[in-house]
Amino acid sequence: MVESIIALGTNLGDRVGNLRRAIEMIGRKMSLVKASSVYETEPMYYKDQDWFLNCVVAVETDLRPHGLLRELQAMEMKLGRKRTVRYGPRVIDLDILFYGNEVISEPGLEIPHPKIAERPFVLVPLNEIRPDLFHPVLGRRTSELVGNLKFGAEQVIKRSGLHVDLVS
Ligand code: ADP
Ligand code: MG
Repeated sequence: MVESIIALGTNLGDRVGNLRRAIEMIGRKMSLVKASSVYETEPMYYKDQDWFLNCVVAVETDLRPHGLLRELQAMEMKLGRKRTVRYGPRVIDLDILFYGNEVISEPGLEIPHPKIAERPFVLVPLNEIRPDLFHPVLGRRTSELVGNLKFGAEQVIKRSGLHVDLVS
C-alpha cells in the first residue's frame, strides 16, 4: 500500500455535497486515512467565476498511479464534470498531489502535481494534515513551501463549520 494525497476542488452546484460525494466514492475504492478542513478559496488563473471549496485527503491504495488517475477521472465524470474552459468552473476536480515519493513526468500524468508550490488552496490544507511531507522534486517540506508562498489570508479561508466526514 502506498500513501497518496488527493486534492479536491469544486465551485459549481452544491459544493459541500460535491466534496462529500467525492470522498464517499474515493472511500469505496481505497482507504481514507485523513482529511483536511474545508477551505473557501479565491479562484486563481481564471478569476471570473465563483469561489471554490477545497480540501485534501490522504489515502492508502494498491492502485498504481495511472489506475488511480483513471479511477479519479471516472468519479469526476459520475459527479457530472463537464470539460469547459481550462481552470474554469467545475463540479469537482480530483488531482493527485503525491503518490508516495514517486516522481512521474508524462504528458498525461505528472506526480508530484506540478502546480503545488504556487497554489495556496493546495498548500494550506496540505500543511494541516502533512506539514512534514517531503516534496521529492523541490526538496522541501510542505511547511517550507507554504512559508515561501506569498498570499493573503483572505484568499484561503478555513470553514470550520463544514465537515467532510471520512466515515458516513
Ligand atoms: P486541471 O486539474 O489542471 O484544472 P483537468 O482536471 O481537466 O485540469 O486535468 C487535465 C489533465 O491533467 C488530465 O487529463 C490529466 O491527464 C492531467 N494530469 C496530469 N497530472 C495529473 C495529476 N497529478 N492529477 C490529476 N490529473 C493530472
Ligand atoms: Mg484536475
